[in-house]
Amino acid sequence: MNASSKCPHTDTHYNLNLASFGDTNIRYLEITGQCKICKLPLRFRGLPMGMGPAAASMAPDGSEARLPVMFGDEEYDGKAISFDIRQVK
Ligand SMILES: [Zn+2]
Repeated sequence: MNASSKCPHTDTHYNLNLASFGDTNIRYLEITGQCKICKLPLRFRGLPMGMGPAAASMAPDGSEARLPVMFGDEEYDGKAISFDIRQVK
């Protein structure tokens, strides 16, 4: 099946990865997905592009959502790094 036919996307696979960057207690739950039938990747919408401790974000092509997370009642240690990607129109 190719992308131009009508795939029902009823058999899907998702990957979750917990990533950390630098000396911080902030981690990022990275979510990607794919249709197992037509192989098209899941594409996220509506999130800012980049990565940071303050809010959920996504990869520029929408292929990955990045959710900042901490465990239990941990407090943010303030050492996290972040970046924003802005589109020039
Ligand atoms: Zn599909």
